[in-house]
Amino acid sequence: MKITFYGTRGILPSGAQMSCAWVDAPGGSFAIDLGSSDLMEDPARVAALDHVLLTHLHPDHIDQLPRLLAAQPDVTVLAPEPVEGVCQLDSVPASWRGLRLEAALTNHPKKNFAYKLSDESATVVWTGDGSYSPELAAFCRGADVIICEATLKEVPAEEAVAIGHMTPALFAKLMNEAAPAKAVATHFSELDPPEYLSEVRKYLHPGIELIAAHEGLTLEV
Ligand SMILES: [Zn+2]
Ligand SMILES: [Zn+2]
Repeated sequence: MKITFYGTRGILPSGAQMSCAWVDAPGGSFAIDLGSSDLMEDPARVAALDHVLLTHLHPDHIDQLPRLLAAQPDVTVLAPEPVEGVCQLDSVPASWRGLRLEAALTNHPKKNFAYKLSDESATVVWTGDGSYSPELAAFCRGADVIICEATLKEVPAEEAVAIGHMTPALFAKLMNEAAPAKAVATHFSELDPPEYLSEVRKYLHPGIELIAAHEGLTLEV
């Protein structure tokens, strides 16, 4: 599977490309989240976009959904909550575009699905929004690549859990417990990517490769 990032910021800085990626899978392509206007400005991608996984219904993840629906009214959407006016699956299918699919709720103020996608050679988790939780770590265990949100600067863990987002220390805790080969930070908000990564490195097991997503990054997994 091949993952191409279109948006790797959160609410901050305002006007940036927010949560969004394009995934090429054995059974076809799809998007994860729709926070990027850049994706909507690619006519070939929009014409091919008939399947979308939404992590949740906060604006930084669905900002471009109305635009997509105008172009593709029959798009098939999976989300943890009902979306008005959308052709939507009412349960998580075991298979999605030729990949095995699982979903788990995270600790976030709005219902958020972390998605686990597997093919014959690799398993990827895309967390969407949420703080560290033991349940999320258990869900992620065994994944080769974990793509995780990077919203908060360092604050006490209890505060981050109450807010429902990751600090650098909690990001590292999740990765150390889940032990992927590769940890990918995305959805940067309070800290810019280099600052976030240098904070994470204070806690992260050195055997785990750490990278920052950026617009245009392609991961082949
Ligand atoms: Zn978000
Ligand atoms: Zn959110």
